Amino acid sequence: MTVPMDMLNPAIVDIGPEGLSVSCTASGPQLGLEEPEDKFEGPLAIQLELSEQEGRISVTGTLESTAIRQCVRCLADYSEPLVVSLYAEYLPQASVGAKSAPAEQGRRPARRGAQPVEPEEEADEEDELYWYQGDHLDLVPMLREQVILAAPMQPICREACLGLCPQCGQNLNERRCGCPPAQAPSPFRVLRGRGSKGEHA
Ligand SMILES: [Zn+2]
Ligand SMILES: [Zn+2]
Repeated sequence: MTVPMDMLNPAIVDIGPEGLSVSCTASGPQLGLEEPEDKFEGPLAIQLELSEQEGRISVTGTLESTAIRQCVRCLADYSEPLVVSLYAEYLPQASVGAKSAPAEQGRRPARRGAQPVEPEEEADEEDELYWYQGDHLDLVPMLREQVILAAPMQPICREACLGLCPQCGQNLNERRCGCPPAQAPSPFRVLRGRGSKGEHA
């Protein structure tokens, strides 16, 4: 069952200090997650708790589904459970200037270092900050972003995936091919070749 998308676009007045629970399902495309990059088996189940204090809205919850990913080794599709823990803070758009300026200044020294190691806590805080405008909160961009961030950079169908034969392209998880093992060109052969050329000259 897919609930109307206004569940993900609640009115600020409905949140209030005592909070608001949002429980609904959405499809990938409803969250702007389109194939082929983002494929899911069934709907995405969304459970959120919202609370508002002096214009600052915190959102916690989970998003669950089954993601279909493509293995980078064997290129086969496989499915895996997707469980995203959500945490976001929303600030009213009017305070963007005031809040973002000091945060940027605080991060500048870290970027100047020889090794660009981001201070993790600060980076996380920044990533979880969103802005809202008007009298409704649009949760869709945040949900889309969190699902994308949760995806592995190098999806692998299983630890022991054998991948594809580099010569014939056979998926080696399914069956072995008859190709001889690939041999790297020996550096000795190259040297010998050069040497014999020298003798002839
Ligand atoms: Zn694989
Ligand atoms: Zn082969």
